Amino acid sequence: MEDAKEAKARAIVQRLREHGFAAYLAGGCVRDRLLGVRAKDFDIATDARPEVVQTLFANTIPVGAKFGVVVVLIDDDPFEVATFRADAPYLDGRRPSAVHFGTLEADAVRRDFTIGGMYYDPAAARVIDLVGGQRDLRAGVIRAIGDPRQRFAEDRLRMLRAIRFAARLDFVIEPATMDAIRRAAPAITEVSAERIGDELVMILTEGNAARGMELLRQSGLMRPLLPEVEALIGCEQPPNYHPEGDVYRHTMLALSMLEYGCSETLAFGLLFHDIAKPRTREVRGGKTTFYGHTELGAEMATDVLQRLRRSRFIQARVAYLVHYHLRLGDAHRMRPSTLKRMLAEEGFEELLSLARLDALASSSYLGFYHFCRRAMLSHAPEQLRPPRLIGGNDLIAMGFQPGPEFKTILKEVEDLQLDGELHDREAALAWVRRHYQPAAGS
Ligand code: ATP
Ligand code: MG
Repeated sequence: MEDAKEAKARAIVQRLREHGFAAYLAGGCVRDRLLGVRAKDFDIATDARPEVVQTLFANTIPVGAKFGVVVVLIDDDPFEVATFRADAPYLDGRRPSAVHFGTLEADAVRRDFTIGGMYYDPAAARVIDLVGGQRDLRAGVIRAIGDPRQRFAEDRLRMLRAIRFAARLDFVIEPATMDAIRRAAPAITEVSAERIGDELVMILTEGNAARGMELLRQSGLMRPLLPEVEALIGCEQPPNYHPEGDVYRHTMLALSMLEYGCSETLAFGLLFHDIAKPRTREVRGGKTTFYGHTELGAEMATDVLQRLRRSRFIQARVAYLVHYHLRLGDAHRMRPSTLKRMLAEEGFEELLSLARLDALASSSYLGFYHFCRRAMLSHAPEQLRPPRLIGGNDLIAMGFQPGPEFKTILKEVEDLQLDGELHDREAALAWVRRHYQPAAGS
């Protein structure tokens, strides 16, 4: 497990100790060490004050010196070195009203969950566990440190953190902790949309996304955060296409196949791919339809992502995925130029992944997927996006007036080029001469 980053973190601990301070690895990296998984990052807790930490290391950034956090850079790797803290009362449910520096004991009990409230002394290879973290880690339990109701009142974001850890680690949330989340769930809206968005992304992309969504629903957090997803529950669809059940069950089944580390856009795309089904559902003559659900779904997805303050790129990509997720079924009927244009679209690979998971969560018919993959493999990039044979200047030279017709002509030439019917410039010019004439008098 020893990796380069861990060695650097140990060196930081070592240096603090050489100067007479207490120092430990703390929080998530201790949990991950006990689980035998590689930690994302290594945090250090110490009794040295931030000003002192800054003098002991050559390269530091006082990111949160007020809160006792200094980032120490070793080569280019950042490490958070935090002075033991004892938080003063929370006034607004978000940030402590003041920070007091304290002891390791006080630092441990201001952390949110037992499994993230442990310390590790690298020199002695010893875990310091004052909160029952090892017991809960063995049992697979997320448990708030101290009184759960109070802890979620202090910081509402912790509700989402509990769900994120339970989903990622496949742990259960201890009953009193879950009960406290249920009571406080409506107050989640006190947290900024950005931070909610960041947590949701982590819940969706760290594996076990379906369990994460289920926990959101069970805890009452889905209603205030993602009411559009909750509305999928009970939205019935034709069983011949969807033996798995309603739109919610279908979506959860699809999410359950997302892998650890998948992109945010694929995850949101899958979560929202059928988001407009409840609003477009119609039953006529015993037939259930959802006409226009992909277009409306793209709009709805954009709205949700805007609400969560995700970037414009994320919004646009997810809207693309939702809008076109059913188009691949027609791939084998497309004219070559249409197919090639689709294969060359930015985001197409992701669209293909999404459509595959969508299919696996219902009919499991994957013919279109293999067809598209084969098509991608059999076309070199320069075949999908070949240099244009002719341009606007050629049309002007032929006596055409610049105008809307230009686009039509050039698109037709490009279609024929992609269809494999026009191969060079001369042929393209001859084709234009045969099919179009410059307006008289020009
Ligand atoms: P990850 O592997 O996702 O980074 P982590 O446990 O390291 O998980 P971080 O968000 O990196 O989580 O926070 C580091 C540590 O700081 C946590 O383990 C926890 O002890 C403490 N902590 C972080 N956020 C809070 C919070 N909102 N309330 C209380 N303690 C917190
Ligand atoms: Mg961490």
